Amino acid sequence: MNTKSSLPLHRQVPDERGFFGKFGGSFIPPELQEQMDEIARAYQRICRSHDFIRELRSIRKHFQGRPTPVYYCNNLSNKIDGARIYLKREDLNHSGAHKLNHCMGEALLAKYLGKKKLIAETGAGQHGVALATAGAYFGIPVEIHMGEVDIAKEHPNVVRMRILGATVVPVSFGARTLKEAVDSAFQAYLKDPVNSIYCIGSVVGPHPFPLMVREFQRVVGIEAREQFIEMTGELPDNVVACVGGGSNAMGIFSGFLDDPVELHGVEPLGRGSKPGDHAASLSHGSEGVMHGFNSIMLKDDKGEPSAVYSVASGLDYPSVGPEHAYLNSIGRTTVGTATDEEAIHAFFQLSRLEGIIPALESAHAVAYALKLAKQRPSQDILVNLSGRGDKDIDFVMEKYGHYADMEY
Ligand SMILES: *Cc1c(COP(=O)(O)O)cnc(C)c1O
Repeated sequence: MNTKSSLPLHRQVPDERGFFGKFGGSFIPPELQEQMDEIARAYQRICRSHDFIRELRSIRKHFQGRPTPVYYCNNLSNKIDGARIYLKREDLNHSGAHKLNHCMGEALLAKYLGKKKLIAETGAGQHGVALATAGAYFGIPVEIHMGEVDIAKEHPNVVRMRILGATVVPVSFGARTLKEAVDSAFQAYLKDPVNSIYCIGSVVGPHPFPLMVREFQRVVGIEAREQFIEMTGELPDNVVACVGGGSNAMGIFSGFLDDPVELHGVEPLGRGSKPGDHAASLSHGSEGVMHGFNSIMLKDDKGEPSAVYSVASGLDYPSVGPEHAYLNSIGRTTVGTATDEEAIHAFFQLSRLEGIIPALESAHAVAYALKLAKQRPSQDILVNLSGRGDKDIDFVMEKYGHYADMEY
């Protein structure tokens, strides 16, 4: 018989109530709790059914183009003369980022539950595009809530969502970014929780979302581990991923949790460590409840979620998925940071040396990997390249165009 501690780490948490140690759980109004319980029960039943597994596998292969490759950055590794750097190419996943992995899973679950509408928030627009893609595939209408600041900044993704048939709802209160978009989307969902389903964009929110999204993203880690061993004959020494809510990081980390591999989550340090200038929740936050779950979050003087900032819209969230808070608290993961400036340098470096334009979010992971590579010259570093940078090119050239004249 399996005792709890002999199970793989990803099977030990969360418990039935969605707790990863003291983090996670569900802190929501009773009427919403009923809906979450129903989703949790349905998920536990459906995710084990062979029909569901078969359909999801087929979608991943034929629609998403999985498996995505692991790629060795020969030029970049030679140039820095440090560690060997590898990328897990989630930028090549259909729609350009890892987010389609959990969106296809969530939409497939919605289909099994007979839901008539998918509701979600989006920051950089990547989750919105991924969900709009999933909605089009399954023929289920999609409603995306997005802060006005992000709508202006991420115009191409707004256009994509509308082409894919989604309704984009602009959010005009507060800081008009991701946090407000989450509040607005939750309100819309609460108006008709029977016919609609909330599709969270990361490993955050009340139980069962942190569990479900991790399980849908786990394919990244499972593939990467197998591919890396096939390529090199061994495990990587380090796995690096950027952390906004933490879904791409949990996806790749979960493949290596029980291995002697150091797992590094990279948070955005923005303009610096002053409150409001960054979104490095684990590095600078404290315990608290937000958006229905207990985790480590950035708070202002009144204990409210504080204003956050990052050059990467997909990373500016004042909390982090509960599993990250847990893994960090037991010392299983290492938390690092990259500033805007470091991320922009990495954005150009990867573009120039490898012909790969990374998303600004992913550029944070690359920037951190470059720092780590100098400290650990004899090691292997596998970076989760969570998305491609096409959505960011206009913004980068407008604001950081002078970097394009530098030598890399
Ligand atoms: C949304 C996004 C992220 C951040 O989300 P996580 O849940 O932390 O993975 C990172 N990279 C890209 C490309 C994104 O679109």
